Amino acid sequence: MSKQTSRRDFLQQFTGGIGVTLAALSVTDSHAAAIAPMTDGKKLGVALVGLGSYAKNQLAVALEKTANCYLAGIVTGTPAKADEWAKKYNLDKKNIYNYQNFDQIASNKDIDIVYVVLPNSMHKEFVLRAAKAGKHVMCEKPMSTTVKDAEDMIQACKAANVQLGIGYRMHFEPFTKEVIRQCREKQVGDVRFIQTNFGFNIGDPTQWRLKKEMAGGGPLMDVGIYCVQAARYVTGEEPLSVTAQYGPVTEPAVFKDVEQSISWQLEFPGHATVNGFSSYRSNIEQLYVSATKGWIQLSPAYSYGPIKGSTNAGPLNMPVVHHQTVMMDEIAKSFLTTGKFPEHINGEEGLRDMRILMKIYEAAATGKKLSLV
Ligand code: NAD
Repeated sequence: MSKQTSRRDFLQQFTGGIGVTLAALSVTDSHAAAIAPMTDGKKLGVALVGLGSYAKNQLAVALEKTANCYLAGIVTGTPAKADEWAKKYNLDKKNIYNYQNFDQIASNKDIDIVYVVLPNSMHKEFVLRAAKAGKHVMCEKPMSTTVKDAEDMIQACKAANVQLGIGYRMHFEPFTKEVIRQCREKQVGDVRFIQTNFGFNIGDPTQWRLKKEMAGGGPLMDVGIYCVQAARYVTGEEPLSVTAQYGPVTEPAVFKDVEQSISWQLEFPGHATVNGFSSYRSNIEQLYVSATKGWIQLSPAYSYGPIKGSTNAGPLNMPVVHHQTVMMDEIAKSFLTTGKFPEHINGEEGLRDMRILMKIYEAAATGKKLSLV
């Protein structure tokens, strides 16, 4: 089983294997209603860097449906992919780059946004090169593999006066937005406890996700980041402290470089406690919020959908959308109207998560309760 297949299969199993198709179909209705094209017809050109599973199966699909941006170019190290994508998306030959000649993108007026979809350790190099070329940059999560790299990426984009956004698609997903609204407006009272888990059964033992140097860590970096994000967007606060524990390693040959699973606890200023769990050997994804007047939960909570939710008052009924389509259109619309990407997905937001992820690892390694302030 290829690494691409195993992850895709994981994400589809929550939707009976047809999640992507369903989401892509339903987006035609709900998405069209949500995002109208800009009146002057301007669409931002996006170049995807790295044509792996996520770029191919989600972002490229999204960029065929978006009203305010489109797939204008690609950057790939594999010539066969360049031909395949050029044909499929009718790409102009001059908008196809490899990793060596990528910097020439500076003079390409068709490209407004470079979207980095490479293994985590490569994000920094390509964000820096895109910024130097004067392009606005979207970067996949986790933003980097170290706090220092995240800081350097923000600095480089500031110096080049370009926007930097992180691909936090849940920020644009209707069920998630409704949970955030209900919690922030205290419809369920004060949030006291959040249980949030995200894990899957990883496939190919040779893939980059299992190499610390490329991934920066294990499931915490890959999917636990969604739980850390959720704790922050539900409470609207930054955590004060963290404790964490590594789980048992049942397959040392597979998990020799990164953790097999990890649990962590965060304390927030408004007195919410968060229990997080992430694993490469448990299929699990949920967000449960317990508050003084009720509860609210999503499960599935983080995969491509359909997301499902309920509260103590009954089921949550929200539109099912294709996450990446809505995300890219919202980001493009924000840029076309304000000259900026939405603040809640900017580089600083990515950096805040990186600081917490690294502290979780430090807390697990030392067994100590560590301050995050
Ligand atoms: P993938 O392994 O499917 O694709 C990685 C791409 O990078 C491939 O095209 C590969 O050829 C290229 N590459 C270049 N140099 C490489 C090297 N030295 N080793 C390995 N690959 C190399 O990975 P993916 O699942 O597409 O993930 C890419 C990024 O997207 C990661 O940062 C990941 O966290 C993120 N991602 C985000 C989501 C989301 O929902 N936001 C989902 C999946 C992945």
